Amino acid sequence: MGRTDRTGSTAPTDSGRAGVSRVVVVGGGFAGVSLLRRLESALPAGRAELAVVSPVDHLLYTSLVPQVCASTVEPRHLAVALRAVLRRTLLRLGDVVAADLSAHTVTVRSADATTRTVGWDRLVLAPGSVTRTLDVPGLDEHALGLKNLDEAVALRDHVLRRLELADAADDPRRRAALCTFVVVGGGYTGTELAAQMVGFTRHAAAAYQRLRPSDVRWLLVDHAPRVLHELAPALGHRAARVLAGRGVEVHLGTSVVEIGAEAVTLAAGGPTVRTRTGVPTHTVVWCAGVSPSPLVAALGLPTAHGRLIVDEFFRVPTADGVFALGDAAAVPDVTRGGAPAGQTAQHAIRQGRTAARNVAASLGYGSPRRYRHRDLGFVVDLGGRAAVANPFGLTLSGPPAALLTRAYHLAALPAGANRVRVATDWVLNSVLGQEITHFDESVPERAEIATSEHTRIYQPTR
Ligand SMILES: Cc1cc2nc3c(=O)[nH]c(=O)nc-3n(C[C@H](O)[C@H](O)[C@H](O)COP(=O)(O)OP(=O)(O)OC[C@H]3O[C@@H](n4cnc5c(N)ncnc54)[C@H](O)[C@@H]3O)c2cc1C
Repeated sequence: MGRTDRTGSTAPTDSGRAGVSRVVVVGGGFAGVSLLRRLESALPAGRAELAVVSPVDHLLYTSLVPQVCASTVEPRHLAVALRAVLRRTLLRLGDVVAADLSAHTVTVRSADATTRTVGWDRLVLAPGSVTRTLDVPGLDEHALGLKNLDEAVALRDHVLRRLELADAADDPRRRAALCTFVVVGGGYTGTELAAQMVGFTRHAAAAYQRLRPSDVRWLLVDHAPRVLHELAPALGHRAARVLAGRGVEVHLGTSVVEIGAEAVTLAAGGPTVRTRTGVPTHTVVWCAGVSPSPLVAALGLPTAHGRLIVDEFFRVPTADGVFALGDAAAVPDVTRGGAPAGQTAQHAIRQGRTAARNVAASLGYGSPRRYRHRDLGFVVDLGGRAAVANPFGLTLSGPPAALLTRAYHLAALPAGANRVRVATDWVLNSVLGQEITHFDESVPERAEIATSEHTRIYQPTR
């Protein structure tokens, strides 16, 4: 039996097998995959059916995404195949765009815009987050995001094409604008990106006939008073020294007030006196934080700062049989007095493991457990032999931190094949240098954040 949805396409209903519980997980990222791996062993195959809905067939290892932009790692090597890491979970390609929480169904929209209704006994919401955009004129049209592989590849190619255009430009002002790159957001993503890209673009510029490496200019802008403001101050100070040593111009206490196709306007100073500066540039990368997937708002469930409210067992209190975790959920961290856990892969992976116990317990297998996080510290790869890290509270920088950072990423990548590919990329790059080719035909000139991150597809839940 099917029903017609508001797009006019037929929506067949898939209700599962009688006597077998069905767990549907929304999102195959860090949280979803770590949960499903545990559930595959915790629930007997004959008693429970597992399904994951994801718009892509892979988990993206986001921590190394800046290395895709800097041509240190091949994009595909960060894509961990869901079909390889999940043994008995059915993968349904598509986006969940709505849910009927009383009928226990979700609506899945495929890439061709047809929809299908899928039934569940337990629903786990782990759709992660999207780039947080603000009400800055020109942001939607001109800024580039860095949340998925498409955006990373588009950014790398965009930057190389600006160098190509700069090389051909006769007007020195146009050439300078094309060689100027602005990163907004001095958190770990923006800091890693600026630190790694300055080296890559200078390496690339050396290969062009009319460009010199010193023509390339990178700016890192943040309204916070220091870089890596979400991490321990010692890491921020050390990272700032690396950025300064590489010639990245760091503008702290500074906001972006307007973005145009060929310039960005910055405002610095206190709330009363603001100095505005125009910076000619054709590239603004927006790394100013994340907000929960728009699916959360479409569901109409209670939220805190846009994240789904859950208890310490990951249960959504107002929706029977529904669990949520990862970036999209405000999971209380009992080690920090119940404050919402941070939006990091480290949290998402551990939450997945504990949430799996609790989903299994809700179906009669095992007993539930509260989420308790032990912080292992953070690693920030600044490219080359530079990194900062604070394992177990110990602050490291330079080659020891770089070694630890790379070892950590290899260990944390969820599949052996990806580990080997990434390690091979690192070795080849250290010997051969980064590749500087780009593919004009395959990548759109500019990928709008909303298009690339599918943020306009949601229907409000009835
Ligand atoms: C560039 C970058 C670098 C980062 N570096 C680090 C780092 O070094 N260390 C660290 O700890 N954290 C890092 N993070 C943060 C980390 O990636 C997130 O905290 C983590 O991915 C959250 O896990 P998640 O499972 O909640 O979401 P994700 O891993 O993002 O997974 C969510 C999945 O849900 C899918 N999805 C979204 N909407 C729907 C829908 N409607 N229906 C079905 N599926 C949907 C998405 O496509 C995605 O596959 C980084 C993030 C970025 C963007």
